[in-house]
Amino acid sequence: MQKIDLMVKGTLVPMVNENIISDGALAIHDGIIIACGKSSELLSRYQASTVLESEGSAIMPGFINGHTHVGMTLLRGVADNAKNLQEWLNDYIFPLEKKFLSEDFVYWSTLLACYEMVQSGITTFADMYFFEAAASKAVAHAGIRALLGETIFLQDDISYAQEFCALPKESALITSALAPHSLYSCDAQTLVKAYAVAQSLDVPFIIHVAEQNQEVVQLQKKTGMSPAEYMQSLNILSCRVIIAHGVHFSDSDLEIIGKSGASIVYNPTSNMKLASGIAHVKSMQEHGIAVGLGTDGSASNNSLDSFAEMKTGALLQSLCLPDYCKPLTPFEVVKLATADGARAIKMGSSIGTLEVGKRADIIMVRYDNLHQLPGYDLFSQFVYSSKSTDVQTVIIDGKIVMHNRKMITLFDKMPQLRERIAFYHDKIKKS
Ligand SMILES: [Zn+2]
Repeated sequence: MQKIDLMVKGTLVPMVNENIISDGALAIHDGIIIACGKSSELLSRYQASTVLESEGSAIMPGFINGHTHVGMTLLRGVADNAKNLQEWLNDYIFPLEKKFLSEDFVYWSTLLACYEMVQSGITTFADMYFFEAAASKAVAHAGIRALLGETIFLQDDISYAQEFCALPKESALITSALAPHSLYSCDAQTLVKAYAVAQSLDVPFIIHVAEQNQEVVQLQKKTGMSPAEYMQSLNILSCRVIIAHGVHFSDSDLEIIGKSGASIVYNPTSNMKLASGIAHVKSMQEHGIAVGLGTDGSASNNSLDSFAEMKTGALLQSLCLPDYCKPLTPFEVVKLATADGARAIKMGSSIGTLEVGKRADIIMVRYDNLHQLPGYDLFSQFVYSSKSTDVQTVIIDGKIVMHNRKMITLFDKMPQLRERIAFYHDKIKKS
């Protein structure tokens, strides 16, 4: 019998296809899935130091939050009356960031975000914000996997972002990226220079594109080009690029993006809240684009909840005209948050499905709570009737981060976190 670190037993939902393995098990050693199959077979081959088993729970890949701004979690609820993205940014967010943004603010915001994400089954997130080095400390403490993109507005920000990418990381689960804010807030030179740095460091390039119609109209006026044409003309469109939003892409934009290998992250709640519009997920996929699912930041969502995002994302797609954009099936929605989400943030070879050789990022989700029953289809249960509180256990890179809803990491920081939340709440409220 081979000795291993961990075995999890239950109904396996590997997300490779729609197949579900009842009485399944995963063997995990050194943070990697080394076997996947029927539990009787795995029990005869492996002796695990720890065995986790729960009847009525599905074992599935952890969710991937493909786009967020964890450093602004302490701004949750400060701008709920903005009527669109521009008003939200210019009248609320930018002035507050100018006043309050600091390493301390980002650290505690990130810690709060990590707590909420782990509790909802998110095991990996892709971020775009400032002071990512401070965020790294919270991420490492939480034991969550993260792609941290340092935001760039001006050329001067590039060297700071470059330094962050080159820094040794606080945890092996952290990778870095360059993240110019958008095509409308960064000039062409900044975009080109930032892309060159991302290329030289071989890291992803994260950017908001075509979030709102106004920016597309203005870009057309200024350059005579659509967003994808403009990116192509600057040579900043490739498989390195992760686009957040893409609500207002034309078919020809999607064709250009599909050929480039760039991916798109769909942020339905934020797009509704900031009146941005409806991204056409099926059209993107038909053009061969990897599409993930994101919450965006807490100031425009206001939750970092994968189940809420799946349901909202599915419902919003159903609002599209049938001949324009077909509704997503529940399986396709769960795929956005797992396998496709991993591909969208360029981690498809290491996470996103439960397969031998992949990192052991696994969640155990109950499917027999009364609010989920009768339960005719497991994927439908996950998308339409489950809640984040149905997540029982979270394993990241083979380590148990939450078990039976009790945090294994982060619990030691809770008293101080509550104190810092109260501190910033008072400061922001008085401002
Ligand atoms: Zn964003």
